[in-house]
Amino acid sequence: MKYDYLIVGSGLFGSICAYELKKKGFKILVIEKRDHLAGNIYTEDSNGINVHKYGAHIFHTNNKKVWDYINNFAEFNRFTNSPIANYKGKLYNLPFNMNTFYQLWGVKTPKEAQAKIEEQKKLYHIENPKNLEEQAISLIGKDIYEILIKGYTEKQWGRKATDLPPFIINRLPVRFTFDNNYFNDKYQGIPIGGYTQVIEKMLDSVEIRLNTNFFDDRQTYLNIANKIIYTGPIDQFYDYKYGTLEYRSLHFENETINEPNFQGNAVVNYTEFDIPYTRIIEHKHFDYVDTKHTIITKEYPKDWKIGDEAYYPINDDKNAKLYEKYKKIADNEKQIYFGGRLAEYKYYDMHHVIEKALNFTNKLA
Ligand code: FAD
Ligand code: UDP
Repeated sequence: MKYDYLIVGSGLFGSICAYELKKKGFKILVIEKRDHLAGNIYTEDSNGINVHKYGAHIFHTNNKKVWDYINNFAEFNRFTNSPIANYKGKLYNLPFNMNTFYQLWGVKTPKEAQAKIEEQKKLYHIENPKNLEEQAISLIGKDIYEILIKGYTEKQWGRKATDLPPFIINRLPVRFTFDNNYFNDKYQGIPIGGYTQVIEKMLDSVEIRLNTNFFDDRQTYLNIANKIIYTGPIDQFYDYKYGTLEYRSLHFENETINEPNFQGNAVVNYTEFDIPYTRIIEHKHFDYVDTKHTIITKEYPKDWKIGDEAYYPINDDKNAKLYEKYKKIADNEKQIYFGGRLAEYKYYDMHHVIEKALNFTNKLA
C-alpha cells in the first residue's frame, strides 16, 4: 500500500482529517473531483473582493476549542451577520427580534410583542408542532410566518412548509431585544483573506490530486491506501442500491457592478415566493473592503438530480430512513470511514464539521 489514508474530498472535513493524520505521521493522499480545494467554503479573490463561490459562509460557534482551532489557520475579522429581509419591497430586520416586531406591528416593548405573538398563536392550538409551518407559527405567530418564512422556505426547499421537518427553523433565533445578530453564538467572523487559505494551510505538504473523481477509478483507489476517508454522498458510494437520497441544489448568478455599494448589507433575503432567488449576497461587506466596484450573487434554489452539486440534505422522514439503511452498511466497513455533510447526510455548519473531524481523528491510531 502506497498510502496509509486516502481522503476523498478536500472540503473542511477531509482537510482537517488530512492535517491531523499527517501530524500523527501518516502518509496521506487527498483526491478532489473539482478543479480547486476547499469544497463549499471555497472563496476566490476577484480584484480585491473575496467571492464566496458556493454561497455566503459566516463562521460561528459557541465552542472555544473549535474557535481556537480554526484561528490557527487564519486571523478572523469581527463580522456579525445581520441579514435584511425584503418582502414585496418592504424591509425587515432578521432574525426575528424587537426591530422586526416594531416594523411589523408598531409594538415598542417586549411585553407588547409577546402579547401580539401569543394572540396569534392562540388561534392555532398547536401543542406539538409536527412540521415547519406548525413550528414557525407556534414560535412567532402567523404574520411573521406568512411574510418572512413561508415563501422563502417553500422556494428554498421546493416543498410545502407542512411537508418539512420542524427543526430547520430552529436555527433562527427569536429575541425580545433590539438585536439583529443572526446567530446566538459567542464567536463569529470571517477569515481575513478568505476561506481557501485556511484549507491551503491545512493541506500544505499533503499530496493532492485535483480533477480526480474517486468513481472514475474506484478499484485503483480502493487498493492504493490502507484506509479511506470518504466525504462524498454516501448513497453514491453504494451505487444508490437502496435508492437515491434527495438534496436541494443551488444555482449562483454573479454580477460585477460599477458602483461601490449595491445593497448596503452582505445579505438581503427575498422572502416572497414569486421572486425566484432566496438571497442576494454582496461579498465586499463580509470583509469591509474599499473598492470602486462591487460583486453580488443571486442564489437560486433548484431541484437536484444525480450529477448536480448536492448542497442541502433533505432530512425528512423518508430520507432519514433511507440514510439509516446506508449508514448500517457503512458502520460495518472495516477500512472505510464516512464523514462530513454529504457522507453523513446532515445539515452541518462549519463548526459542526470541525468538531466531528477532530473527534474522529483523535480516535484514529
Ligand atoms: P464539502 O464542502 O461538500 O466537501 C466535500 C468535497 O468532496 C467537495 O470538495 C467535493 O467536490 C468532494 N467530492 C465529493 N465526491 C467526490 C468524489 N467522488 N471524488 C473526489 N472528490 C469528491 N456553514 C457555516 O458554518 N456558516 C455558513 O454561513 C454556511 N453557509 C452555507 C451556505 C451554503 C449555500 C451551503 C451549501 C452551506 C453552508 N454552510 C455554512 C455549510 C458548510 O458549507 C459545510 O458545513 C461544510 O462546507 C461541509 O464541509 P464538508 O467537507 O463536509 O463538505
Ligand atoms: N428562513 C426563512 N426566512 C428567512 C431565512 C431563513 O424562512 O429569511 C428559514 C428557511 O426555511 C431556511 C431556514 O430558515 O431554510 C434556515 O435558514 P438559514 O439562514 O440558517 O439557512 P442556510 O444559510 O443554511 O441556507
